[in-house]
Amino acid sequence: MSIASRITAIKSALPQGVDLVAVSKFHPAEQLLEAYNAGQRIFGESRVQELLPKIETLPADIKWHFIGHLQTNKVRSIIGRTSLIESVDSTRLLDLIDAESLRAGVVTRVLLQVHVAAEETKTGFSPDELIQYFESRRFENLQATHICGIMGMATNTDDTSRVRADFAAIRALFDRIHTIAPDLRGFDTVSMGMSDDRDIAIECGSTLVRIGTDIFGPRSY
Ligand SMILES: *Cc1c(COP(=O)(O)O)cnc(C)c1O
Repeated sequence: MSIASRITAIKSALPQGVDLVAVSKFHPAEQLLEAYNAGQRIFGESRVQELLPKIETLPADIKWHFIGHLQTNKVRSIIGRTSLIESVDSTRLLDLIDAESLRAGVVTRVLLQVHVAAEETKTGFSPDELIQYFESRRFENLQATHICGIMGMATNTDDTSRVRADFAAIRALFDRIHTIAPDLRGFDTVSMGMSDDRDIAIECGSTLVRIGTDIFGPRSY
């Protein structure tokens, strides 16, 4: 199947209210262009050194989502260039994004990444840390950053009941934050679900799925 027909098939299976991020990391610009020509506009990249050259070569109306661990020394180089940074995993990073956005005169849209999976390797806030963050209303200090929701990953396992429990926990946390801070504006995104687990994620209330392999095929790192 071509990239274009995969995009079309995936999109037509998404319920209303669920958007698609085409995760294009490790794939060349020509393949992204194929997806673009099939109507795809949101692309996800996980490395700054790969994102920046792709921004230069590809059409200007692409919405770039940064989905990887963002090192603090790379923040300045992507401020003003992304549509959404999905992977903010510490208050230190959040405060730095805010300072750099203020300095650049832009507003940066972000998701806070939550860690619920069994693997220690996955980064992010714990659910308790996020609850604490919103209860303390520290988000009110942000001047040039808009928190649009949360992003998370399920445990990498064949045990679908564990995957379902992880996604349910992420969605429950999102709903809880709404209760804690009902005045939060534009807090409407729950990014969860990848190639192998997107159906379960959607059943659990995802609004944004991030799909790489099922669109572009396997990555060669
Ligand atoms: C690579 C990646 C994906 C896409 O994974 P696939 O299994 O290829 O669909 C989604 N989210 C994040 C954060 C990723 O790093």
